[in-house]
Amino acid sequence: MEVRTIVLGLFQTNTYLLVEENEVVIIDPVSKAERIQTKIQGHEKVIGILLTHGHFDHIGAVDDLAELYQCPVFLHYEDYELTQDPQKNYSQTKKIKLKSKLSFFDDQLQLGHFIFTIHHTPGHTPGSVCIEYKDLLFTGDTLFKESVGRTDLYRGNPQELKQSLRQIAKMDPLMKIYPGHEAQSSLAHEFKNNPYF
Ligand SMILES: [Zn+2]
Repeated sequence: MEVRTIVLGLFQTNTYLLVEENEVVIIDPVSKAERIQTKIQGHEKVIGILLTHGHFDHIGAVDDLAELYQCPVFLHYEDYELTQDPQKNYSQTKKIKLKSKLSFFDDQLQLGHFIFTIHHTPGHTPGSVCIEYKDLLFTGDTLFKESVGRTDLYRGNPQELKQSLRQIAKMDPLMKIYPGHEAQSSLAHEFKNNPYF
């Protein structure tokens, strides 16, 4: 298993490539499909795109990559409306409105060799999720190293975020976290050092 990180866009958002047995899952394709493409080797097969939430700085390359690789795209249904409305996903002049067919997460997702557990963690957005694979947790903008995502954007909710953090607090501290922005961390580190826990 390998995780490749590509930092892209105005807000320095992390796109992650999760690679196992020559299969690749793209988490949050931020922008610049051609730059993401260069990190995928010729013998590797992209089998899906997963979105932690619907903000513009996490979805900008979805349509290009879904068409290129002919792969499914998954997100939580509560964030669907964000992907269809540039005002709600804050894409301003870029006016992002996804055209790809979007599928909605269940609690578990099996894709090729991967089995993901999907944790619905609303607060930053109503359909924010944390995506668990083995000992990795892709936390989107719900949880950052020593911080959390803002709750003052469209349909953000501080009470829901608190509840989501309570849910994360029950998870295995040995899990490594891969946030939507900035550095990786571990749940153990966050439980000890993140003031929001
Ligand atoms: Zn966000």
